[in-house]
Amino acid sequence: MADPIVEVQNLRKTYGPKVAVADVSFSVAPGEIFGILGPNGSGKTTAVECIAGLRDADDGHILVIGIDPQTHPDLIREHVGIQFQEAGLHDKVTVLEALSLFASFYETPADVDDLLTVLDLKDTRDARFKSLSGGQKQRVSIALALVGNPKVAILDELTQGLDPQARRTTWEVVRRARDTGATVLLVTHFMEEAERLCDRLVILDHGRIIAEGSPQELIDSVGDARSLEDVFVALTAKSPAASTTRSA
Ligand code: ADP
Repeated sequence: MADPIVEVQNLRKTYGPKVAVADVSFSVAPGEIFGILGPNGSGKTTAVECIAGLRDADDGHILVIGIDPQTHPDLIREHVGIQFQEAGLHDKVTVLEALSLFASFYETPADVDDLLTVLDLKDTRDARFKSLSGGQKQRVSIALALVGNPKVAILDELTQGLDPQARRTTWEVVRRARDTGATVLLVTHFMEEAERLCDRLVILDHGRIIAEGSPQELIDSVGDARSLEDVFVALTAKSPAASTTRSA
């Protein structure tokens, strides 16, 4: 692999007695679309929040473009764009105002009009955030993650709540971001999305990696699996953590 742009070694994060991330290590090469998959509560969001410097890890080492986000969260923000499940914008702000404001935080922002066009938001540029549909709000949150032209874009449940057509358009936007130089960390629990988009991925279960590889490698590694969904079902059935939960 080329020198990794993101390196995570033995990451651990607890919330009081709750172990959200037990022990996670992986590397992401520049230009990859790298998936972090797993069921709800498996530690995906906590892991990427540590990578983005938004949460303090309890243990482990992280490097993003050679910078430790735990000790230099301010330096990381210039290079990492993060999309949250909730954009958290003020109801009265318009789409254009929000994007222009976020663009002003960065030295070399993306072209706002271009982003509006690509994300099919041109007609809503002067609309207030609160008046947008769920799908439009989702696309604004993606635009906000990409407006800084980040070297690493972290997209969390990218297509949650989108209809199939909007989902496919959004996948194109992610491929385009990669083609124009971004590395993408894609958090998802949609197996089909990961299968179509990701170059490589890890599957988390109860804060640990239970599988890693390209979608095809993972499918080939499990007997009669024909899709990532099959792989996921087979692996989580075997996972000791999963069986503990089932018998609990
Ligand atoms: P995922 O993104 O895979 O759904 P999360 O990282 O959000 O997983 O959560 C992992 C575990 O940590 C879950 O059990 C969740 O309830 C718990 N958790 C997440 N955030 C907090 C928090 N701020 N305080 C306490 N527990 C949390």
